[in-house]
Amino acid sequence: MKDILIKNNIKSPFQGVSAGHKSWKGGGDTFSIKSPVDGKNIGRVKGGSSADFDKVIKKAESAFKEWRLMPAPQRGEVVRQFGEGLRKQKQALGELVSYEMGKSLQEGLGEVQEMIDICDFAVGLSRQLYGLQMHSERPEHRMMEQWHPLGVVGIISAFNFPVAVWAWNTALAWVSGNVCIWKPSEKTPFTALACQEIMKKVIKKNKLPEGICSVIIGGRDIGAQMASNPRVALVSATGSTRMGKSIAKIVAARLGKTILELGGNNAVIISQNADLSHAVPAVVFGAVGTCGQRCTSTRRLIIHESQYDSMIEKLVKAYGQLKIGSPLNEANHVGPLIDKDAVKAYQKTIKQAISQGGKVLSGNEVLSGEKFKSGCYIKPTIIEAKSDLKMVKHETFAPILYVMKYSTIEEAFEIQNNVPQGLSSSIFTLNIRESEKFLSVAGSDCGIANVNIGTSGAEIGGAFGGEKETGGGRESGSDAWKAYMRRQTCTLNYGEGLPLAQGIKFEL
Ligand code: NAD
Repeated sequence: MKDILIKNNIKSPFQGVSAGHKSWKGGGDTFSIKSPVDGKNIGRVKGGSSADFDKVIKKAESAFKEWRLMPAPQRGEVVRQFGEGLRKQKQALGELVSYEMGKSLQEGLGEVQEMIDICDFAVGLSRQLYGLQMHSERPEHRMMEQWHPLGVVGIISAFNFPVAVWAWNTALAWVSGNVCIWKPSEKTPFTALACQEIMKKVIKKNKLPEGICSVIIGGRDIGAQMASNPRVALVSATGSTRMGKSIAKIVAARLGKTILELGGNNAVIISQNADLSHAVPAVVFGAVGTCGQRCTSTRRLIIHESQYDSMIEKLVKAYGQLKIGSPLNEANHVGPLIDKDAVKAYQKTIKQAISQGGKVLSGNEVLSGEKFKSGCYIKPTIIEAKSDLKMVKHETFAPILYVMKYSTIEEAFEIQNNVPQGLSSSIFTLNIRESEKFLSVAGSDCGIANVNIGTSGAEIGGAFGGEKETGGGRESGSDAWKAYMRRQTCTLNYGEGLPLAQGIKFEL
């Protein structure tokens, strides 16, 4: 472990708040971090206090005055250098992500690759922050819109994607001319400090103000402070729907802006026309990958009655072959849950689902023994359920897959949409009518709709996010950058007269 910290240039586990070049000890709560992989202590981190938060905001505001004046392509060059820094540290940072969060090393490295990819995307974007030009109804007038940065962007992130989601936000926010303050999950502060170290070097090399990139370690109290502070123009928050509802209210009360990326309850439809040789591995990966702790994890499987028995038999067989153990060992398919509270939530959900009429087909076991000594390892679970079972509508952040039957495709869409969340969805079918209906307005109501691939694993080129209780926010690709900027409509009169709009006359 010491090696991983050294590779990430984290010299003191007591670093608390770090804003740019100087890291200092925060004056808030202390967080003791244990790895879910082996239960060993990673270190303790002193979080930031209210006073520390004020200091970070002041530095950010002062940095904004300089950063916003730098031409966008030059800001893109700084982001390019950050991407280069990530390329150099990919292995070390990927290992730290895996060790601190508990996802497989391949997924840890994949998460860092996503950061690199979004930097590349943002570099190109820095030359494409286009505004439209409109024809004015008045002669010799020009009308156009342009985009300016918002100012200080606050980023609150969840434990399950401890670094990639921050990068999605920050790379776009930076090229748009904003400065960013990051409050990472209190469960994964070391990965955040490692990212800060990488960007610190870039900031120093380019002689830029340190407040462009700040991190403040803390729990929900610091998150709430970020939400209520009118000096934070945009709060981009990723996490549970409970957290999103709380933040949305606070930010709306001050008429601030939010991007909300909240809980999912993602379903896969297996039609009578599905190719099961593709569907089975896609569903297993979607349901058990990252130990069911992706916002896009597959949580519900809606199977046509003609395929039901065959699909269940194949799934149960595949679950029986899963290797569970340290995520740092590539031979294992499933690593641990984040902590013992998550294990309790897994047990409680299964108990409740059984009491509501669900039947366990596989799993329902907390693993013990030397190999599983962190106490966070469990068996992925399949539960047969009716679609109206109460627990089916609820997101539990664990590998619990509810399976259910349907008879008509319309019924499958109805079941798929009949949950409060609206993040990711997928259908397996070789029938073009079914796939087109699924993508039509009468099909999936989610932010992400896939055909013949699973629910998880989004590419950075598309806008990422979901509807309903998932919060409605969009991040990453497409035109998601617009949420980090303010639109200004400008009209310019280069003529000799002063004509008014709508032909109004005002003679003096
Ligand atoms: P969480 O809501 O417990 O915490 C997320 C972050 O919000 C943390 O930094 C936490 O300190 C902060 N926070 C929590 N309550 C807060 C409050 N009342 N005010 C201000 N800040 C608060 O979530 P988690 O357990 O870290 O992550 C799992 C959840 O995140 C799941 O619901 C998952 O679906 C969701 N998630 C969504 C996406 C997405 O893009 N839609 C991506 C990743 C995770």
